[in-house]
Amino acid sequence: MDNINDLRIEIDRINKQLLTLLNRRADLTLKIGKEKQKHGYTVHDPIREQHILETLMKENKGPFKNEDITGIFKEIFQASKKLQKTDQSDELLISRKKKQSDTIIKIKNQSIGGSEKALIFGPCSIESYEQMEQVAKKLNSLGIKFIRGGAFKPRTSPYSFQGLGIEGLKIMGEICNKHDLISFVEVMDQEQLDIACDYVDIVQIGARNMQNFSLLKKVGKINKPVFLKRGLSATIEEFKMSAEYIIANGNPNIILCERGIRTYEQATRNTLDLSAVPILKNETHLPVIVDISHSAGRKDIMDSLARASLAAGADGIMAEIHPNPLIALSDAGQQLDFEEFMTLYKHIQHY
Ligand code: PEP
Ligand code: MN
Repeated sequence: MDNINDLRIEIDRINKQLLTLLNRRADLTLKIGKEKQKHGYTVHDPIREQHILETLMKENKGPFKNEDITGIFKEIFQASKKLQKTDQSDELLISRKKKQSDTIIKIKNQSIGGSEKALIFGPCSIESYEQMEQVAKKLNSLGIKFIRGGAFKPRTSPYSFQGLGIEGLKIMGEICNKHDLISFVEVMDQEQLDIACDYVDIVQIGARNMQNFSLLKKVGKINKPVFLKRGLSATIEEFKMSAEYIIANGNPNIILCERGIRTYEQATRNTLDLSAVPILKNETHLPVIVDISHSAGRKDIMDSLARASLAAGADGIMAEIHPNPLIALSDAGQQLDFEEFMTLYKHIQHY
């Protein structure tokens, strides 16, 4: 028994040495990670890993077999890469570690990301002056300041209504001037961006363009807030990196929008990823809005999704409303009429 105890004392001593060595190794890993980032190299370097493993196998005199040594070192590589990635992600300009205070987007006496929840409503597409006038009056009667509406529509079919284009932008501009509202309008390319900047307050980058990196760089150079929607199948990490493109190009006024992702589920148009809300709030300093229309794609659960989103920490809600959804030129099935809108509004106004 005495012998076992002695041996265990020796094991404990070696464990401590291993711990110190592992952490010394980790310190070096972090330094290498910083260099990799500086030079734009990826964290994962399989050739280097293979080289280390081959050298170790040659050196290995046992009693551990080569496959066991390989297994142990692969675990070390894994932990090191995780450390490098966390460290690099903490260095991002959008990171909460980099800037602890919430980014509050201030626009025309309103703010997004502060203590008040932002409510953004409006039709899928701008269809006519009269339609927008009706929506604006409704919003005004409730004191809601944010209005949405698409002038350039990203439609699946080229034969579907593509939006009114510049005509739509002009309608939105006039309506916002008249009713003192703040607009959210999507652009899909540089040309549309240049024109839209004359008429809209907040530029929306839609789900389909979340990784249009040249467009992200362009909106990084404008002096208007950008409403960035999560891509159809984008991971949270990819979503964050897209926002990083915008901030790295000079525009810190970014609002993130969770709008559901594609999964195998057919009951909803997309699957609303509610976990994205607290994750994005924790890991970035940017405001987070949930689009409950494009995520659900159906009206009957929007109430619950709105309340759930706000309870999860979202800074606001976006939803589609239309004076007469039956004849809407796009997304007719998911837009709320004014009565349905009022029911939803009553359920969320005290959040
Ligand atoms: C929209 O908000 O009009 C839209 C097309 O949404 P998404 O890009 O999220 O599909
Ligand atoms: Mn729509």
